[in-house]
Amino acid sequence: MIYADIIVDISHENLDKTYQYAVPEHLEEKAVVGSLVKFPFGRANRIIKGYIISLSQTPSIDVSYIKKIDEVVDNALVMESHLIRLASWIRDNYGATLNDALKIVLPVKQTVKAVEKRTIRLLLEQDKATDKLIELRKKNYKARIRLMELLLKQKELDYDTAINKLGITRPTIQAFVEGGIVELKAATVYRNPIKNEQSLQKAAVLTPKQQEIADDFCNDYDNGIRRTYLLHGITGSGKTEVYMEMIQHVLNKGKQVILLIPEIALTYQTVMRFYKRFGNRISIMNSRLSKGERYDQYMRAKQGDIDIMIGPRSALFTPFENLGLIIIDEEHEGSYKSEMPPKYHAREVAIYRANLLNASVVLGSATPSLEAYKRAKDGEYKLYELKDRINGAKLPHVYVVDLREELKKKNKSIFSEKLKELINDRLNKKEQIMLFLNRRGFAGFVSCRSCGHVMKCSHCDVSLTYHHGKENQKLVCHYCGHDEEMPKKCPSCGSPYIATFGTGTQKVEEMARKEFPTARILRMDMDTTVGKEGHEKILSAFANQEADILVGTQMIVKGHDFGNVSLVGILAADLSLYANDYRAAEKTFQLLTQAVGRAGRSKDNGEAVIQTYNPEHYSVITSANNDYETFYNSEIAFRTIMKYPPVSNILVAFLTSKNEEMVAKAADLFKAAVLDYKEQMKLQMSMSQEKMETGDLEIIGPVKANVAKVNDIYRYVLYMKHMDYIYLKDLKNFMEGFIDYSAIFKGCSVQFDFNPMNSY
Ligand code: ADP
Ligand code: ZN
Ligand code: ZN
Repeated sequence: MIYADIIVDISHENLDKTYQYAVPEHLEEKAVVGSLVKFPFGRANRIIKGYIISLSQTPSIDVSYIKKIDEVVDNALVMESHLIRLASWIRDNYGATLNDALKIVLPVKQTVKAVEKRTIRLLLEQDKATDKLIELRKKNYKARIRLMELLLKQKELDYDTAINKLGITRPTIQAFVEGGIVELKAATVYRNPIKNEQSLQKAAVLTPKQQEIADDFCNDYDNGIRRTYLLHGITGSGKTEVYMEMIQHVLNKGKQVILLIPEIALTYQTVMRFYKRFGNRISIMNSRLSKGERYDQYMRAKQGDIDIMIGPRSALFTPFENLGLIIIDEEHEGSYKSEMPPKYHAREVAIYRANLLNASVVLGSATPSLEAYKRAKDGEYKLYELKDRINGAKLPHVYVVDLREELKKKNKSIFSEKLKELINDRLNKKEQIMLFLNRRGFAGFVSCRSCGHVMKCSHCDVSLTYHHGKENQKLVCHYCGHDEEMPKKCPSCGSPYIATFGTGTQKVEEMARKEFPTARILRMDMDTTVGKEGHEKILSAFANQEADILVGTQMIVKGHDFGNVSLVGILAADLSLYANDYRAAEKTFQLLTQAVGRAGRSKDNGEAVIQTYNPEHYSVITSANNDYETFYNSEIAFRTIMKYPPVSNILVAFLTSKNEEMVAKAADLFKAAVLDYKEQMKLQMSMSQEKMETGDLEIIGPVKANVAKVNDIYRYVLYMKHMDYIYLKDLKNFMEGFIDYSAIFKGCSVQFDFNPMNSY
């Protein structure tokens, strides 16, 4: 017998509340995860509907209490049904409770009270109403007379305006309602997060190359071909314009489109570009929207009021019934991977969802992820390439400056001679400059020059970061938010020589002011962008040329097109190279390429300066030459030798606990179980006929995580490598079961992560 766990109401907050039913034999084939079924419920055995969210062979309660499903409702692929299937796939592929997975695919469950627009409508004919007015005047009902006069003029009044602006009271309106003179009408108005609507604009005439790509896609689409495409186009090559053409085509077929954009790039400028083309058929989702706004966008999508949803990772779950296309722009971005369990990757989930709904997926990037490019080369995705900038604009000329040489020349400033020269040149020409500080990981930590003591957070195993506030100097923990005063003396040896190391954006700004006293400088980083519109304000000030130089972190390299920027300076290209992370070279290449690409978007004299201690590193050389292909070849060779993704696969088990001893023990037990599993599999493999050419399981660890403690919680990590993804997925499923049964894991939490984007 097969047993089904059924969820009755998916709009309910507690998705864990399921009921088990038996699946009669004749329904076994039709009853799959996601099926809508009818079954008897409660004492009265009222027949109600629900969704199957999982199936199993074993009953979880005494079988004599288990009732049977009545029927499986056909038209299986209703919205909820396919999202539940998606959740089940996410649970299986990334590891998490089904509850967590369901919460991912049903992002808005709680109904947020809709905004209602109420109107007062006159029910009486003109002459009857006039009679009524005369009658009221005789009785000298002042308030009612006024209301009647207003209604005679316009027949319908906005309820709120009547009360707030026209001074009509609620009882007066109530009296009219009871007298049958008026009726109240209520209509739901959905909040629209897109303000300042602009008039529509015609599409640009595509270049022959853009057109060729769009045509090929449309041709496939018309022929019923649904697949994944990778659009590799250099910065400013017109990818967005190609997306819009594809979107238009899919919309014309009556289908809907989801466009994923990294949150940081989802600026007013980007939204308006799409708005001008598609008008109010588009909507956006992002974390800056209020709860009510988000709920409304969800409802608008569900009801078909919009056809295009633009948003970050979570917009992937927009409940479109007729989804035809999912586009993922900047597909290489780390933010497409969830940092919370289930640690899913939007690219993979998009492809699975598209498969369920017979939709296509387009991935786009100037610097594709190794994963996507490899699949494109292997023929799994179709590859499109745009190798030139629009209107023949040239890519910037790039100077690579060796910082060791600068030091020999006794230049101790953070600006090399070349960069200084070019900045002065641009300041003279009234052109703009971006200074980019690559500070992923560390910078601004405080240590003692006498004894080397580093100021660390008392709750986390990380160094504190120096912040220079208006009033005081503070040390802040970027992991838990803890802050403390900057000490005057070293707490370890008492030396007064305690100071910050590394260069932060504040420092860069300060030095730039000294070096270029006439320049107007703006800074954009975590400190200057607090508040809802913080980062938008700085970007638009710079776009309006209210400043000559913009200093910032990775935040400034995305999403904005500044026509007047003709110089980009990259101050420390290397910081991200040293990260203890197999993706370090890839991330560095991406950052440098994106940063360089900011210069000379509309002018031909774009230049960039990359300052580095590693001028020979292939990430630096290939990004300076804008040579993705060479970068890819070097990097894939490295991954092949090291057996890293995308050549191989990694499963990370991340264990945490308040009790350090316990988590260390649990990690050891975990490893022992993995070793057992490995032996068992070997045995099975040797007995089966099939020869697997996928190599052996490698286990690394357990070790303390890079950041061994956060918020007083201890962190351990274990890496498992195998060529075959399915092997690791099965291992994960096995370990999930093991964890449930072992007492030692009660005080720990274990998270799984496949092919991590960041190191642990
Ligand atoms: P990408 O997304 O590849 O960085 P965009 O689509 O933003 O490139 O295009 C870069 C610039 O060129 C934008 O200002 C865009 O409006 C313009 N552009 C793109 N395609 C065309 C075209 N066919 N004709 C004229 N301008 C175009
Ligand atoms: Zn000291
Ligand atoms: Zn902390």
